[in-house]
Amino acid sequence: MTPSYDTVIIGAGISGAAIAFELSKRGYRTINVDRLEAAGRGSTSNTCAIIRTHYSTLEGTAIAYDSYFSWKGWQDYLETVDNDGLARFYQTGLLNIYPEGHDPSNHLNLHDTLGIPYEIWNTHKLLEKMPHFTDDSFHPPKRPEDPSFYAESEQKISDTVVYYPNDGYINDPVLSVHNLQRAAESKGADFRFNAKVVGIRKERDRAAGVTLENGDTIDAAVVVNAAGPHSAVINHMAGVAQKMKMKTRPLRHEVHFVPSPGEFSYEKNGLVVGDADLGGYHRPETGNLILVGSEDPLCDEREWVADPDCFNREVTRAQYQAQTYRLARRIPGLRIPNTPRGIVDLYDVTDDWIPIYDRSDLAGFYLAIGTSGNQYKNGPAIGIILSHIIDACENGHDHDRRPVEVKLPNIDFALDTGIFSRNRDIIAGSSFSVLG
Ligand SMILES: Cc1cc2nc3c(=O)[nH]c(=O)nc-3n(C[C@H](O)[C@H](O)[C@H](O)COP(=O)(O)OP(=O)(O)OC[C@H]3O[C@@H](n4cnc5c(N)ncnc54)[C@H](O)[C@@H]3O)c2cc1C
Repeated sequence: MTPSYDTVIIGAGISGAAIAFELSKRGYRTINVDRLEAAGRGSTSNTCAIIRTHYSTLEGTAIAYDSYFSWKGWQDYLETVDNDGLARFYQTGLLNIYPEGHDPSNHLNLHDTLGIPYEIWNTHKLLEKMPHFTDDSFHPPKRPEDPSFYAESEQKISDTVVYYPNDGYINDPVLSVHNLQRAAESKGADFRFNAKVVGIRKERDRAAGVTLENGDTIDAAVVVNAAGPHSAVINHMAGVAQKMKMKTRPLRHEVHFVPSPGEFSYEKNGLVVGDADLGGYHRPETGNLILVGSEDPLCDEREWVADPDCFNREVTRAQYQAQTYRLARRIPGLRIPNTPRGIVDLYDVTDDWIPIYDRSDLAGFYLAIGTSGNQYKNGPAIGIILSHIIDACENGHDHDRRPVEVKLPNIDFALDTGIFSRNRDIIAGSSFSVLG
């Protein structure tokens, strides 16, 4: 007999698991189906899991700030115990370094509007806290192949460095999704793994469930696409891909690991650093390592992937050198092992790098996609936003005409979810990068 649920959620990453949790709290009978063997094993497994609040839009900043409280009070947020243990939020703080002439005022204004704390440091304080840094500027970011890469710097970075004390990172993203799975299950949710969706079933012009690769079917009046970098594949299956203004496509991304420099322990004293002067970021990683990521500077060619099941999962020497050599300009004592070490995964990127949290043109089919390399931290908010949109639409609300407003649970903010519409015009104020 075909099992029947109120909602099938395709994907059990941070998005799908959070949606299951919030819908289950509302009494929806949900099942997450995931083609992999356990929760959080898709792109979430390779996230850098940085928790930060600086985004280019008020709404983006608000959902990040609201979610910060859920991470901070993770055990209370989950309302249950996971015998596997809890993911941990390391609230190290984050500092942002800018090239001379680059103005952080948009971020600061948004933080002022929402009452989010930050501190303005000068480079003297930066070097006091991070004595292994140099305050030389290397802007614009370059690749080591560029003959000017090693040229002596003639400029200094901006004397305005911004420190965000609330920020940090989650130590174990896979465990965090397992925690959410258990939380959702405690409210009645089901999860099914090793189950690949190959078809979206329809009846009378609306979603009616899914078909799995092994031929099984699951009935549900509501189907949610939370398939991460496979979002476009699922939208094509549902026949909605051509009916939305905003598109999603996978972008390959590398992150690398190098040891802490001898004179400074990232394990003990490290924090998250965004370095727009170098076009990268770094943070402490287990084993006194530094995790080195990239903000996709213009000098690095973007690697769009046609098929999310077919891309190079090996770190490349060229990109390892580009990212770590750039960091070595900020940290002259950095030792870079000859053998590259790191991870590779896909972002699911929209045209303006702002996610899509919306209904679709197929009644009963909803979208939590286009997370653009920056929405792990917003998992708790994604669950809340989708549960409100689904509940409103299933009760007859015209979300396209009047976008659902969501009162965020942890901060005093009424979120106009229209910003996450599939049919929005490109948001010109976006960073058009992983910064969102
Ligand atoms: C290298 C990297 C670094 C990042 N760093 C950060 C960061 O520091 N901070 C931050 O906030 N965000 C970061 N992100 C972004 C963040 O990780 C993602 O936005 C988030 O994890 C996406 O979660 P998801 O649940 O939407 O997708 P996923 O975790 O990819 O989950 C989707 C799931 O859908 C399943 N699926 C797909 N197709 C099917 C199908 N046909 N049938 C059944 N199941 C299917 C997959 O198996 C997968 O488990 C980073 C991302 C990457 C790749």
